[in-house]
Amino acid sequence: MLLIMLSATFALGALGVGCGLLLRRLNRPTDTANDPGEALIEQINACLPQTQCGQCGHPGCRPYAAAIAEGEAINRCPPGGEDTIIVLADLLGREPLPMDAERGEQKPPMLAVIREDECIGCTKCIIACPVDAIIGASKYMHTVIASECTGCELCVEPCPVDCIDMVAMQNDATVRAG
Ligand code: SF4
Ligand code: SF4
Ligand code: SF4
Repeated sequence: MLLIMLSATFALGALGVGCGLLLRRLNRPTDTANDPGEALIEQINACLPQTQCGQCGHPGCRPYAAAIAEGEAINRCPPGGEDTIIVLADLLGREPLPMDAERGEQKPPMLAVIREDECIGCTKCIIACPVDAIIGASKYMHTVIASECTGCELCVEPCPVDCIDMVAMQNDATVRAG
């Protein structure tokens, strides 16, 4: 009887250790340093302006970086402009291409400003903002955290009372680094 109990205890212990090792393995973050594909995507992403505007046709800069790593054209980021094309061409050993005009045009750095006395507190701009740069609560006035705003313009169209202006930045201090 004692032998059976000891065997059962040992078996449960071994199972616990095995599950623990499996869980640790599943929870381990992706090691980009040991994954050449991920490392390349990170390198490409670091060249992109992190505006998260979606003009490239992807839902953010990193998805576009992943697509470029798979062979997509490097000329689809209007906020990055010609400078970004040249940096990407150099990184990837590709020919620089002219900017894809269908994606839009490069603009000077912009910042969203809410005309707060007109805001109805609908929260649609908060939902649209890809970088959580807008604060406010339902039915209360909303405001933009200037240091977080990338100037992506994604909050402008959803505003039902058209009370968000895009204004030129006085300097580029509020453009987030990658
Ligand atoms: S167009 Fe450029 S800045 Fe905008 S999401 Fe795509 S890569 Fe990022
Ligand atoms: S506040 Fe508007 S313009 Fe600024 S990052 Fe958010 S969605 Fe883009
Ligand atoms: S979308 Fe316009 S009205 Fe709605 S919370 Fe934002 S700024 Fe205010």
